[in-house]
Amino acid sequence: MTLGNLPSAMRNAPTSEAMYLVALLPIPPKKKKLKQRQKDRIEKILQECLYDVLLPLAEAAGGPVEIDCCDSKRRSCHIRICGWIADHIEYVKLLGLKPQSCPKCEVGFRDLQTVGRDWPARDYQAYMEKRLDADDGNLRSAEELGKLGVSPFHPALSSLPNIRVDGLHKPDLLHGIHLGLTLDILEWTVAFLKKYKRTDAFDRAWLSLSPHVNFERFTKAYSQITQWKGKELRHAGKILISTVAAALTAPSPAERAPFRKMQECLLAYVNFHLMVQYKFHNETTLGYMTDYWEEFTALREEPFRQFRPTAKAKKNSESYTRKAKKDLEDTMKTFDGTAREKRTEEASKLARIETEAKAIYDSLSSFNYIKMHLPNHFTSSIRAFGCLGGFSTDAGELAHVKQLKDGWRASNHVNAYRQIIDFYNRKYQFRIRELNLLQVEREQVDETLTERLRNVFDSFYTAEERRELHRMN
Ligand SMILES: [Zn+2]
Repeated sequence: MTLGNLPSAMRNAPTSEAMYLVALLPIPPKKKKLKQRQKDRIEKILQECLYDVLLPLAEAAGGPVEIDCCDSKRRSCHIRICGWIADHIEYVKLLGLKPQSCPKCEVGFRDLQTVGRDWPARDYQAYMEKRLDADDGNLRSAEELGKLGVSPFHPALSSLPNIRVDGLHKPDLLHGIHLGLTLDILEWTVAFLKKYKRTDAFDRAWLSLSPHVNFERFTKAYSQITQWKGKELRHAGKILISTVAAALTAPSPAERAPFRKMQECLLAYVNFHLMVQYKFHNETTLGYMTDYWEEFTALREEPFRQFRPTAKAKKNSESYTRKAKKDLEDTMKTFDGTAREKRTEEASKLARIETEAKAIYDSLSSFNYIKMHLPNHFTSSIRAFGCLGGFSTDAGELAHVKQLKDGWRASNHVNAYRQIIDFYNRKYQFRIRELNLLQVEREQVDETLTERLRNVFDSFYTAEERRELHRMN
């Protein structure tokens, strides 16, 4: 849990302890080998746990709450539950949607790559009523829910009081942009360079960059990085245009046109990628951001489509070809006519199979996936809640180590849940006390305080003095 009215720089800093661990949810067994009934049961238990954990908070949001603050004053506080920070898969589970559904609007699965159109916003209250209808055996309601990409089970959030479910979704830069689209674009770019045999020049340029303010140089070539971090992809966005330009110098006359188109598309994406990270926005920057996104979506088809063969597209088109060819063989066995007629007939049928298989492949290997749709909601989110970096999952993922892994390591691994929470709470309370005292010292309330604090916290010493102290101990 975190507080929305902290400045985002402070909220996202791991040292400020702005993320608080509220509860540990039970870890269900892996779902792969389970029956549908068992899967549903796991889903239900998780939602019930969420309901129990969140109920006190949701009830508190109904009116003012008296809270004792660290400056020993008592204040009357109003709690508003305004967001849940998670990645896309967690959102669809929380909100009771299907994996390829948009949490903000009712866009259909076939329209995910369409840009510049608005779909009706999701009405989670109406879904609740439809779900109850469907539970009573109303098949039409169940069918409507299925069409809208809504799953039949009841999500806990919809039944809690004082929560506006439609406002909970926040764009996630880490998984949606950096580890999502930027990584995809990087992969397609490298595939493009490979096609034109330019990867060596790209790797040389990639490795030769020297460190700069806000840029850490890469120590590994692109092909050697197997596990990407969000930070690396942020840095990659800064250098991609220039390294690709260096790799594509001196094109032959035939290469000139594809190279230019690819670089134009890449430039539009990188501009968009840099703009979503802006800390402040106004109408002009928002306009630029939308324009770059639209430019990228208009240009992406030609240079990058060929590098987007999803495994499913390949599998489906191949299995179609295999089946159709076998059918053709069977019909040809009973073919009545001369050998020449048979050959012509076979050739024309084979050609038709090939076009059919290509159509299947094309329909599945397009840019029609959810990551391509979510950026359409960035502008409205920035207008309502400010810069996107404030809601990224970065901070939560970082806090995970401190909140869980350290506690797990310190436990005896027997019934570890309780031990992890106790361990974390103890550390957390000491740290919060330290932060409060540091703040009091900074405000110079008491002049003798610094001297007294120096006896307790080594954060008051310079790095040099701290090393000296450790040596003496
Ligand atoms: Zn949408």
